[in-house]
Amino acid sequence: MAVNGMYFLDCGVLTCDKTFITYKQGFGELVDIPVVPVLIDTDDGYVLFDTGVDPAGLILPDEVWGVKQSFIKQFTEENDIRVQLKKVGVSPQDIKYVVNSHFHWDHTGGNRFFDHSTIFVQKSEFRFGYYPDSAFEGSYIKRYFDHPLNYKLIEGDYEVVKGVYITTSTGHTPGHQSLVVHLQNECAVLAGDAVYGKECIEKNIPPGNSWDLSRGIESLNKLQHIAKRNNGHLYVTHDPNFWKEYKPAPFCYKQNARLIEHTEK
Ligand SMILES: [Zn+2]
Repeated sequence: MAVNGMYFLDCGVLTCDKTFITYKQGFGELVDIPVVPVLIDTDDGYVLFDTGVDPAGLILPDEVWGVKQSFIKQFTEENDIRVQLKKVGVSPQDIKYVVNSHFHWDHTGGNRFFDHSTIFVQKSEFRFGYYPDSAFEGSYIKRYFDHPLNYKLIEGDYEVVKGVYITTSTGHTPGHQSLVVHLQNECAVLAGDAVYGKECIEKNIPPGNSWDLSRGIESLNKLQHIAKRNNGHLYVTHDPNFWKEYKPAPFCYKQNARLIEHTEK
């Protein structure tokens, strides 16, 4: 009963105004941010944290991506979640559990491929995804998640398998959740969009496009506290410099990922 390793999946690059990352700081400055779902290999099956950008947009960009095309800086067939999983010999049918950090379009684009999986989402996020407040509806593309999938709606923290548990981190969206992964000698806190950049940790600032700024700050503090208490570390996958620090799949992080101790599967 243990976590065997963790893989960072390269699912493209978005570009946005820096104020998306750091609330009210950096107007007019464009930054490139990676999209990085995370695969966790455990004795109890594979767990996938988020499903990335919808690859069908490569063929039908106007219909699938629509106005979001302006955010997509780089996305090729290589960045398809299925191709990324294949790099480690895994297919969507092998994924036992999917955890959606939230229902924004760059985290749910591949949801429909996981019709064999149990998909965990907070009930509050599920509700909001279908009926978002008008100021936030642009971030939700209903047809990405509106499929007859095995959604398991949860309210609060939840243990997915031994060593992998969901913890709520609301603020960016009403039902945002993060994933805590107990590697061999490290507690990896996968922040999702509760933390957009390392700069947000240093300056204690929430994501720019927060649904609730105060709760965003609380979640930022909560996640840092979980990491600190467990002698762990926060992983900020949208950080513009993420790929300077970490290696994409097929590299497998078996323990302290910060030390780039990796082995190929
Ligand atoms: Zn995102």
